[in-house]
Amino acid sequence: MEWSKIYEYAKLVPRGIPNISKIVSGIVSNVELKYGFLKEDERLEIIRRRIICEGCPFNNRNAASSEEYLEVTKGHYDSKREDFHCSFCGCPIEIRTASLQSNCGIEYWNSISKNTLPLKWKKYNGKEIQDTEDSSGESVEHSG
Ligand code: SF4
Repeated sequence: MEWSKIYEYAKLVPRGIPNISKIVSGIVSNVELKYGFLKEDERLEIIRRRIICEGCPFNNRNAASSEEYLEVTKGHYDSKREDFHCSFCGCPIEIRTASLQSNCGIEYWNSISKNTLPLKWKKYNGKEIQDTEDSSGESVEHSG
């Protein structure tokens, strides 16, 4: 496992999150254990996504009090669910981040709210796959 990359990813987490090194090493162990059959770059991508979700103001734990969530949705997130999930798409973080052909849950929020918040991570196929619009306005995918 390429730890230098993991250290870089850990810098993506906003300051102030307690025990981040323990959280990151827990994420790495969990991914290694569950997804050892995947190629290393794919495991690293899952780890990168999990670290981003961990620090995201829109995960269910943070959205309950984050200013960013309040600003975007005009309220705080309120849910009785106890699992760690994305407040926008409702997916368990563990599952959504392991779905390499999925975009970050902001995609769902944008589709129902007409917002254009930037995605925090994108489909992965060896590289992140960028969605762009061609001249006809149709969404097209390309690696890059
Ligand atoms: S899927 Fe995207 S919006 Fe949801 S918690 Fe993760 S980074 Fe945040």
